[in-house]
Amino acid sequence: MSKRPTWNIHTHTYRCGHAYGTDEEYVRKAMEIGINYLGFSDHVFIPGRSDPRIRGDYSELEGYIASIRDLEKKYEGRVTIKLGFEAEWMDEYADYYADLLHSKKVDYLILGQHCRIMHDRFFGYGYLPDVKDRLEFYCIDVLCGIQSGLFTYVCHPDLFTRFVGEWDQKCEEISHRICKEAAKYGLPLEFNFGNSRGAVKNFPGEPAHMTYPHPRFWEIAKQYDIPVVLGVDAHHPDHFLESDYDWAYRFIEALGLKLVDSWPLNSGL
Ligand SMILES: [Zn+2]
Ligand SMILES: [Zn+2]
Repeated sequence: MSKRPTWNIHTHTYRCGHAYGTDEEYVRKAMEIGINYLGFSDHVFIPGRSDPRIRGDYSELEGYIASIRDLEKKYEGRVTIKLGFEAEWMDEYADYYADLLHSKKVDYLILGQHCRIMHDRFFGYGYLPDVKDRLEFYCIDVLCGIQSGLFTYVCHPDLFTRFVGEWDQKCEEISHRICKEAAKYGLPLEFNFGNSRGAVKNFPGEPAHMTYPHPRFWEIAKQYDIPVVLGVDAHHPDHFLESDYDWAYRFIEALGLKLVDSWPLNSGL
């Protein structure tokens, strides 16, 4: 078998409402490709707010913790299992995130900025009428997340390509700002496999679709010499088998990015 990652800390569970399978099935499929360090990072549950089909309800927190901790014990010696969340930076919940880490309820958080809170509800950047605002708000939120010291890495930093029609000067600008800040704080950027399982895949040197991973973003990341980690972003146990790893390694090699096989978890302390 050609090369496969042995470390992945971007894994979802059915609790978010758009992922499938049992928690244990994710473990088994991950082991099938040779993963020996597996982190669960479901979309963070937020106390007092409901976000159906995007993230699990806060009432599921204890069950999530118990289930993953049980698997951690059950598979001890065969695969290292860690528990975390993929979370958006949100000022209002910084204390909650810090408490999740400090109380050791979870081992780590990864920064996956999909939305922000506006008008007292979750608001996807793509719904903002002005394209420049979408990019600027996304960028500011990612920068705050990086600066918070709570996160282990930045998930799909080029997610913003999905909010705009074409790569423009503003995309260029925010890519530099995100990469510069990640470099300053020593945070890796994640090369995300979510789209590798679909039809549209970019490759350096070819005309790019507005999706991630986007070659232009990663050309800029290269200039800052930032460590790059792989994130399967599994929403189904089979995603471990279906992700296009060969394409990813070729993409990363074509740009000469600094791929690292693993990265220490940031416990926020
Ligand atoms: Zn998801
Ligand atoms: Zn994810």
